[in-house]
Amino acid sequence: LNRRLADFGTTIFAEMSALAVATGSINLGQGFPDQDGPEEVREAAVRALRDGRGNQYPPGPGVPELRTAIALHQARRYGLSCDPDTEVLVTAGATEAIAATLLALLEPGDEVVALEPYYDSYAACIAMAGASRVPVTLRPDPGQARFRLDLDELRDAVTDRTRLLLINTPHNPTGTVLTREELTAIAELAVERDLLVVTDEVYEHLVFDEAEHIPLATLPGMRERTVTIGSAGKTFSFTGWKVGWVTGARELVSAVRTVKQFLTYVSAGPFQYAIAEALRLPDSYFDGFRADLRRKRDLLGDGLRAAGFVVYQPQGTYFITTDITPFGEKDAYAFCRALPERCGVVAIPNSVFYDDPDAGRSQVRFAFCKRDDVLDEAAGRLRRLA
Ligand code: PMP
Ligand code: GLN
Repeated sequence: LNRRLADFGTTIFAEMSALAVATGSINLGQGFPDQDGPEEVREAAVRALRDGRGNQYPPGPGVPELRTAIALHQARRYGLSCDPDTEVLVTAGATEAIAATLLALLEPGDEVVALEPYYDSYAACIAMAGASRVPVTLRPDPGQARFRLDLDELRDAVTDRTRLLLINTPHNPTGTVLTREELTAIAELAVERDLLVVTDEVYEHLVFDEAEHIPLATLPGMRERTVTIGSAGKTFSFTGWKVGWVTGARELVSAVRTVKQFLTYVSAGPFQYAIAEALRLPDSYFDGFRADLRRKRDLLGDGLRAAGFVVYQPQGTYFITTDITPFGEKDAYAFCRALPERCGVVAIPNSVFYDDPDAGRSQVRFAFCKRDDVLDEAAGRLRRLA
């Protein structure tokens, strides 16, 4: 492994999922639902396969049906217009979108200001590009109602070497949804310092209660400097299909497209047709999915509180971040490695998503995108920790 990547071994998600399989534990670690997405979307994939749509190399930027559906989705939901031919690019999941975008936009030596704790691929892709990351840490507010962004810290993180801001809302792993005030500050800073913004919005439809997902690209001055990343995996419960996308201004998307050509060339065909249909599902699908997840959040949240965890209530995503200090524990990684043995549950230590290993040392993340009986069983098992 080259020096740029020497610090990156196996991702925590693979490590913890392997531990779940090896120990027969309930896997509340890696974020994937245990029930597949809508039947009609699966049928659409089967139809595409049978009809021979997408069985040979599809067009590089993605099949026109899907690019049009993505553009319509952005217009209908957010009033954002993008040209499906030049401002939309289909990728192999958001993971490829992140990699291709960072490789396209960064020069060696550039700095990237990124929210911390950060989704693990950000750090690896910044390193692949030869750039360096400058974290801005989200911290629980004093009432512990939500993790929030310190706007002064954000300003202070920008230097003359900063090339772009890497944002993620709704945020994995904290479940925070950035507010209009926070997003406005990000946008103003980007304009003032002439920065690009890459915003990972894969959890855009997974927001609860009063929280509202506001795409950064909708704020003044952002449309021309923002690359927005989306994914069908989370919204439609097909994480294995690996259909993601990038939208943004033509020059930016064109740069990302250049890189994508040499990473995967094109994304798998038949699933693209199926996701084009999924994006046209009526609002009732999105509302129902959200309501179901909100209920699951509360089910697992109550279980975690009853078991003794400090629970940071998420406004979005399908993750709950907790603190293990009440158990007299301080090391999330050691805690997560021992958890299967102690009670047959797997979780993710947030500590691996921080540059400063002390920052998130006692935070553990649990996924609630699981059947109710699985969440009940997990909560019962976790009560044994007391
Ligand atoms: N970004 C974030 C914040 C994620 O949590 C994930 C995991 N799904 C991804 C990107 C990757 O998405 P995909 O599975 O579409 O590659
Ligand atoms: N995004 C998912 C999570 O945070 C996992 C994706 C992966 O395994 N890379 O759990």
